[in-house]
Amino acid sequence: PVGLFGEQRKNSMGVNFGNDNEIKALADAIAASVQSWKATPLVPGATSSATPTPVTDPADRRRTVGSWQAADSATVEKALGNAAAAQPDWDRMPAAGRAKILEHTADLLETHRGELIALCVREAGKTIPDAIAEVREAVDFCRYYANQARKLLGHPEVLPGPTGESNQLFLHGRGVFVCISPWNFPLAIFMGQVVAALVTGNAVIAKPAEQTNLVAFRATQILHEAGVPAAVMQLLPGDGATVGAALCKDPRVAGVAFTGSTETARAINRALAARDAAIAVLIAETGGQNALIADSSSLPEQVVKDAVNSAFYSAGQRCSCARILFVQEDIADKVIAMLAGAMDELKIGEPRLLSTDIGPVIDEDAKKILDEHSARMEKEARLIKVAKMGEEAAHGTFFAPRAFEINSLCQLKREVFGPVLHVLRWKAADLEKIIDQINATGYGLTLGVHSRIDSTIEKISRNVKVGNCYVNRNQIGAVVGVQPFGGEGLSGTGPKAGGPHYLTRFVTERTVTINT
Ligand code: NAD
Repeated sequence: PVGLFGEQRKNSMGVNFGNDNEIKALADAIAASVQSWKATPLVPGATSSATPTPVTDPADRRRTVGSWQAADSATVEKALGNAAAAQPDWDRMPAAGRAKILEHTADLLETHRGELIALCVREAGKTIPDAIAEVREAVDFCRYYANQARKLLGHPEVLPGPTGESNQLFLHGRGVFVCISPWNFPLAIFMGQVVAALVTGNAVIAKPAEQTNLVAFRATQILHEAGVPAAVMQLLPGDGATVGAALCKDPRVAGVAFTGSTETARAINRALAARDAAIAVLIAETGGQNALIADSSSLPEQVVKDAVNSAFYSAGQRCSCARILFVQEDIADKVIAMLAGAMDELKIGEPRLLSTDIGPVIDEDAKKILDEHSARMEKEARLIKVAKMGEEAAHGTFFAPRAFEINSLCQLKREVFGPVLHVLRWKAADLEKIIDQINATGYGLTLGVHSRIDSTIEKISRNVKVGNCYVNRNQIGAVVGVQPFGGEGLSGTGPKAGGPHYLTRFVTERTVTINT
């Protein structure tokens, strides 16, 4: 079928829960995943001397999942040298060849789907539906960017000129691209950044999040198996402050694709600017302070369903999650009572069980930040509800979803990255003020709107500065090629991931004029 951008491409189908064979295959893969995974730097000609660090399961810290080894400084140096030397040949390869490798990567990701799902569950504490979505999105990025690369880089663009002159515009990879990814989409975001940089002719050095090196290691092995040369796709596990910072200081780096917090994006921007080197490109996709506005014409049942889904599922650890529910006063009591009731139904616990709605948060540090925020809210706001947790949560880093009613948006200074929803009542006359307040946060990632009044929907969606606005539905789960994703202001630089302009930031343009 022809997709949104006239492509002959279908998004990945995921797992069919109506098919017993598919469910059994998935259950077998997860049951078999008691193996111990390992991640090391993947850099030809280098062996790191660092001592391996154990990886434990966020759902039960007594369970060891594997170990990872950081890159030492000699390995970082070797990776930069390898990448700079290997990039020109990779860039000379026709874009169609690189696109084919991405499509092969997509096929291999599907072949190894069971193991990758198990790994996302065990290393990142993802629920099974979230882990399935990870693999699907990674597959979609590969196939979507392969298609885009054929269109953009497949042939030079022939430009007009006077008689006797030919003009052509060629696109090339920029050089060495560093891809720095977060733990919350350990496969999808890792792959999305890396394959976009590769297919446009760049050599990639990937620095995944410290918490999810095992997923990144398997993904890199799959890219190599699909045909990406080892020196063109290298992996450097390590701390952001050491390995990540060392990469961003290096003059051989032509660009950085970063997804993570706004603070880290600023640090990377400063490091790149301080180099005595060519000005590098930074693509940063960062945090959000996402609102959902419900007016009195909206359906309370739908508002609550979408608020619960957008704020609490994935343990609130999506950049797109709803953090603030603005509910118009006429329906506020009803919505708040229904919200508390819906939170009673949430099943929090072991992510390996299909019955689980919400798993653990990523680590102790994340839990501590959430505990501190909750303690402050208990003093400054009205607690609506804390969801109940099962006993199996006792050994993991779990944080029960909760909702507070606050008086002012000023009570939230920064992004709260977990399952906490803040509810604010508003009066009809306040709509402009709300729009101004949301814009004044400086973030601009997602926005939810619930209303059945066209003029209200239009007013909000035209005036709130966000990258992704969702009306009368949840505000998470952007689909590749369907809802290009990314924000503005403190939420990112663009271009949008999974959209038709993303690849353009990874290339440099060269015009060739020939006097014929
Ligand atoms: P983080 O900023 O702490 O870390 C992200 C990555 O940056 C990690 O790989 C880390 O090691 C590295 N890093 C840290 N310091 C560095 C430095 N000085 N130099 C180079 N690299 C460095 O973010 P996180 O906690 O892993 O992820 C959660 C954040 O990511 C949230 O703010 C969330 O909103 C954001 N996020 C945004 C999007 C989006 O598309 N806009 C998507 C997912 C997550």
